[in-house]
Amino acid sequence: MNASRLKSGSVQKKLIQNFIAMLVLGTITIGAVSFMTARNALNQKGEIILKNSVIQAIQLIQAEQAQVESGVKSLDSAQEYIKATLLSPLNPNGTRDLHNHVNLGENGYFIVYDLKGVEIMHPTLEGKNVWNVRDMANKDTFLVQEQIAIARKGGGFFSYSWLLPHSNKVGKKISYSAYEPDWGWVVVATAYKQDFNRDARMILLYILSLTIGIVGTVGIIGVRSVKKIVKPIFTIVGGLEKVAQGEYELIKQTESEDEIAYLVDGYNGMILALREARENIENKNRKLEYLAYFDELTGLHNRYGLNQQVNSRIRNANATGYLVQLDIAGLKVINSTMGFQQGDRVLKLIAEHHKTHPGGINQIARTSSNEFTLWIENNQKETVKEIVYGFRDTLKSSIKAEVSGAGIDFHMAMCAQETGDFDELYEKTTMAMKVAKESNDFNIHIYQDDMREQIENELLMSRHLSNAIMDNEIVPHYQSKIDYSTMTCTGVEALARWCSEELGVISPGIFIPAIARLNLTDQFTRYLLDRVLGDYRKLCVKYGEGITVSVNISPLSFLAQGFVEYVDSMLSKHAMVADRLILEITEDVLISDHRAVSATIQQLHQIGVKISIDDFGTGYSSLNYLVNIDFDEMKIDKSFIHQMEKDPKAFHLLKIICDIAELHQYSLVAEGVETTAQLDLIKNTPLRIIQGYLFSKPEALD
Ligand code: C2E
Ligand code: CA
Ligand code: CA
Repeated sequence: MNASRLKSGSVQKKLIQNFIAMLVLGTITIGAVSFMTARNALNQKGEIILKNSVIQAIQLIQAEQAQVESGVKSLDSAQEYIKATLLSPLNPNGTRDLHNHVNLGENGYFIVYDLKGVEIMHPTLEGKNVWNVRDMANKDTFLVQEQIAIARKGGGFFSYSWLLPHSNKVGKKISYSAYEPDWGWVVVATAYKQDFNRDARMILLYILSLTIGIVGTVGIIGVRSVKKIVKPIFTIVGGLEKVAQGEYELIKQTESEDEIAYLVDGYNGMILALREARENIENKNRKLEYLAYFDELTGLHNRYGLNQQVNSRIRNANATGYLVQLDIAGLKVINSTMGFQQGDRVLKLIAEHHKTHPGGINQIARTSSNEFTLWIENNQKETVKEIVYGFRDTLKSSIKAEVSGAGIDFHMAMCAQETGDFDELYEKTTMAMKVAKESNDFNIHIYQDDMREQIENELLMSRHLSNAIMDNEIVPHYQSKIDYSTMTCTGVEALARWCSEELGVISPGIFIPAIARLNLTDQFTRYLLDRVLGDYRKLCVKYGEGITVSVNISPLSFLAQGFVEYVDSMLSKHAMVADRLILEITEDVLISDHRAVSATIQQLHQIGVKISIDDFGTGYSSLNYLVNIDFDEMKIDKSFIHQMEKDPKAFHLLKIICDIAELHQYSLVAEGVETTAQLDLIKNTPLRIIQGYLFSKPEALD
């Protein structure tokens, strides 16, 4: 029920109304019963008086008769004496007054009839025959005849209605009639009932006034006690109204131990529960509010918090400066190899480090799981770079000292605040960060407008790329490997080309990393292997029977589950001899998971496929894996070949590599040989196989 439907005090009103009704009903019942009892008793008393009067009158008649019989009195004088005694002496006008020697009530009197209904004695009707007089209320009743009949049967009462004295209203009368045989008289004593029970009406009046008195006093007391009983209910109702307005107040417990006390207890319990619930909600809201602007782990602002801070500086203080992003490289490795706790420690250390070494950084926030963003209010690009590098360096060494074995670095990007607000600045910095990550360079990358174009192009490319594989838009071109001593082709390397209808010809250096970002590497590798092995027959026709065909395999695909099985199934599908297939992998495969790589190479060797180590001389170039892993071929990277012309040390190193390869019986291939000068140098080494523009460029099969 809502508060608007509440009629205030209605329970109390009902209780009081009911209470007073019961009180009135009770007293009226008692009054009525006592009135009836009193009236009955008085009526009975009146009847006894009537009966006794008639009996005494008859005794008096008989005494007079005795005197008549003894000759003392004449019959006439005896009869006149009785009439004068019962009523009064005859007036000259033939009427008799009501003297009431015998008390028959205020308006009662005696009548005497003979058996034929002639009035022998009556105040006004003496000598008249009243045989046919009827009851005033019930016209079928002949009252005189009834009274005479009752008298002849030995005497008795008869009730009827007659005019009230000096009035034309009809009242209830009662008579007692008895027969006196000596004189032949029917003696009747009549009286009005109301004369007998007048006292009873007094009782009624008395009771009525008593009732009013009782209802008055008991009513006042009763209303007070009802009010006292229902007061806590009012308090509860008042409390509920306050609850609706958000105020939770406890109410005082009553002294009694009744249902109301129980109600008060329940109400107070509810209030306590509501208070607790409100507190919980407030706490949660506070936490949500906190989490909306802060990072729980480090206690630093999150992106929204930083947004507010930076925007308020830009708008209110006309501040300008640089936004810088630091992306932790290697955090995932820490999480997976050392556990999340260690990863969390690194993150907390960064926050703590800023507290103790703010070093010109005005704001720091954790803007995503492994990204921190700094706001530096300084317009000098070089100074800002110095601040960032300094922060990065001390950070790296403090992490190294605190979390042993945590090898991390930071990709860094920054953008100058010129126009616009935080969001624009953050978006631009994120673009620069994307470039930094893609080039896997740990120097600071500063946002330039062409980055946007580059990223947009990439996006465009990504949109077309997934269809490109399915639509066979990516095709292998082939570049031959030549043994310059015999000038024969020993094999070909498949190099992918994307001939896009919309974007033109795109080089693998661009679309292969994009394929990786779209998680399509595996699909692409399988597609290309299928296509190249499908080309093998035609390749033999073009480049010579029994040539080898090399396919570049991304590290991701090489270590993917089911890769070896897939290679095997493709060899069967295209009925190709396994040792004609060479898979080229780069050094970064080797450092990712040494054991898994060894195992995969072993499985591939078991089915007869050969493995070539590509781009040797770049990257990590650890001699360690040369000794531990079984390769079949080593491809010296083109940068090495080009450097060797200018740098005798590089050439010397090449000779050592050749020695190691010979020792392990690896075949050697020189990549990117473009000039005869380069070839002349190579002639001084055991290297025989050349792949480069000097002899051939990658070309389409058809
Ligand atoms: P890579 O495996 O080192 O391939 C040799 C690259 O050197 C090719 O570039 C080739 O065209 C180029 N090249 C050949 N001879 C010369 C030369 O005399 N001088 C110069 N300057 N360059 C020469 P391309 O075709 O642009 O491929 C670039 C890279 O893309 C490849 O380097 C390889 O890592 C990757 N790639 C190409 N096709 C595939 C593929 O099907 N799968 C995978 N995973 N990677 C591929
Ligand atoms: Ca290659
Ligand atoms: Ca290469």
